[in-house]
Amino acid sequence: MQIARVALDVPLHRFFDYLVPEGEVLGTAEIGLRVRVPFGQKSRIGIIADLAQSSDFPVAQIKQIEAVLRDLPALPADWFRLCEFCAAYYQAPLGEVMLSTLPAGLRRIDPPKARTSHRLPKLPPLHEPPPLTAEQQTALATIAANGRGFTAYLLHGVTGSGKTEVYLRRVEQALAAGQQVLLLVPEINLTPQLEARVAARFPSAGLVSLHSELTDAARTRNWRAALDGSARIVLGTRLAVFTPMPDLGLIVVDEEHDSSFKQQDGMRYSARDVAVFRARERGVPIVLGSATPSLESWANATDSRTPARYTLLTLYERAVKNARLPVVQRIDTRLEKLQDGLSGALLLAIEKRLVRGEQSLVFLNRRGYAPVLTCTCCGWISHCHRCAANLVLHLADGRLRCHHCGYECRVPKACPTCGNQDIQPFGRGTQRLEVALSERFPQARILRVDRDSAKSRKQWETLVEQIYAGEADILVGTQMLAKGHDFPKLTLVGTLGADAALFAADWRAPERLFAQLMQVAGRAGRAELAGEVLIQTQFPDHPLYASVVRHDYPAFANEQLREREQAGFPPYAYQAMLRAEAPQMADSLAYLAAARSWPQAAEHGDVMLYDPVPMRLARRANLERAQLLAESSSRRALQNFLGEWRKRLEAIKAPARLRWHLEVDPLEF
Ligand code: ADP
Ligand code: ZN
Ligand code: ZN
Repeated sequence: MQIARVALDVPLHRFFDYLVPEGEVLGTAEIGLRVRVPFGQKSRIGIIADLAQSSDFPVAQIKQIEAVLRDLPALPADWFRLCEFCAAYYQAPLGEVMLSTLPAGLRRIDPPKARTSHRLPKLPPLHEPPPLTAEQQTALATIAANGRGFTAYLLHGVTGSGKTEVYLRRVEQALAAGQQVLLLVPEINLTPQLEARVAARFPSAGLVSLHSELTDAARTRNWRAALDGSARIVLGTRLAVFTPMPDLGLIVVDEEHDSSFKQQDGMRYSARDVAVFRARERGVPIVLGSATPSLESWANATDSRTPARYTLLTLYERAVKNARLPVVQRIDTRLEKLQDGLSGALLLAIEKRLVRGEQSLVFLNRRGYAPVLTCTCCGWISHCHRCAANLVLHLADGRLRCHHCGYECRVPKACPTCGNQDIQPFGRGTQRLEVALSERFPQARILRVDRDSAKSRKQWETLVEQIYAGEADILVGTQMLAKGHDFPKLTLVGTLGADAALFAADWRAPERLFAQLMQVAGRAGRAELAGEVLIQTQFPDHPLYASVVRHDYPAFANEQLREREQAGFPPYAYQAMLRAEAPQMADSLAYLAAARSWPQAAEHGDVMLYDPVPMRLARRANLERAQLLAESSSRRALQNFLGEWRKRLEAIKAPARLRWHLEVDPLEF
């Protein structure tokens, strides 16, 4: 009798025993193959995780494997270790982790038919790579000096400093050594650009991309190519960090600070952190690149008290000869009456660009026309009845929308409470800014770029093409536009409403603001045309802005780290957040209180449990939400605690409609 331990996509922290069918003899070579097994009333796809000669269950109860699937090579051992690490670290069921990282097609009983021919993208003409700058050479030499084993590098370089070129040169070396390369980027929007660049440089590397917008069949095909080794480069978003790659020799994480690397539901993992674990486990180098590294990575690379965990590589200057960093100025908005939120200096600067035929970008990270609609008579405001939040006015299509739960309705003609017809938008979003700018500059071609105007991939690509082609004079955009794109004619960036993040309750807000300002500033003047950035603020003396003006990330980061250390915040503490949601807040809080009053918690003296509190957005989609923070100065102590605590959490009796989850290393509060 042979027993296979099978990983299944169920929320239980164990494998399931099945009998190996008569006539099949499985050995270690078969561990990692998919199987079809009966489970409950249905069949499911699972993965053989282990083999045994006996089971703890009575043989009569053990069902038999229906089929051993050999359409794919077995998943490799290091892939198992990666999943095991994630399951343990993020307190997630191992079977769920394993199956959820597979493309949907490979988890299904009836997989989609793989088409034989596919995907070849049009390649731009090959051109010679540029000779490296001295800084790039130094960075590459440092990487080379450390050899092929594990080292984590933090490549800190201002926007346009040629980080990507450094990655590509190192990729070239890995390919030449017969290795596979994993390139991670935060957003799908950034993949086509990098994909084109990588494909042009390495036309025969069988580059595949992996992200959520691919069809099931395409994702399956690309994933399979990575597993069977025919794809030598995999370019993907966060889930791609789990791609099995037998010859993996290098990992690159571009824009490593970006919060898109954090998965926000299911297993809430950080693809960046998982990538570092994977590189260490595989014994291969990893390069984390950013103009504004996460403070965690910066501390890892610069903390002088512990031997640096990451090796810091710095590119101080833009790579293209004579390309200067933009001049950043603060506009003190206390000193004048703004016109539709726009200062005289910004309006004048836009006008100059119009005359010169250059582009301007006005950055406001709030979509819609106005964040709320109000009645000037009775004080009514547009509230979402499902959330503790306001409905946002979208005048472009006459709707009120909740940005949290998706509820929407028509804009009322009069106040629903008192009938007053004079209801007014309050505050300003991108749509309102667009209207104001078109009234002020009627001759200008204005393009709004936010999640409303770029709903689909096609719309987004069309907008980007229009900008490239110079078919717009003024861009109004949210953070969608802040990242990664070189627009050759863009020479002016103005930012509105940045101050809110300075005093936000979330202590990570300044870090995000700094990154955003540097990113958006990086859009201005990338090529021959010098750039100018105007930051409208009521707090021009704030040290954060002073660092932005000097393009001085290290000054900003070091100051932030000092504050974090004093306050005992990460990266000087390790955290996990337990969240509960239920129709009634009392139930959510009661669950957390039960979680907190656990006698064994005392045995984990290094772990502190805070009081349960309602979340900032206390109600979303009719569910009332609360959270409880667990914290320790030791990652290990926290991990030991969480493993035990999770069992306790699963045992607490809770109302049927209550849901809870545990998030390790939470980013948002
Ligand atoms: P980053 O990734 O740091 O934003 P990129 O690698 O995209 O920077 O480089 C920015 C620009 O500089 C690109 O247009 C790139 O082609 C160019 N570039 C990069 N390295 C060099 C170099 N050594 N010489 C000339 N141009 C370069
Ligand atoms: Zn009213
Ligand atoms: Zn809502």
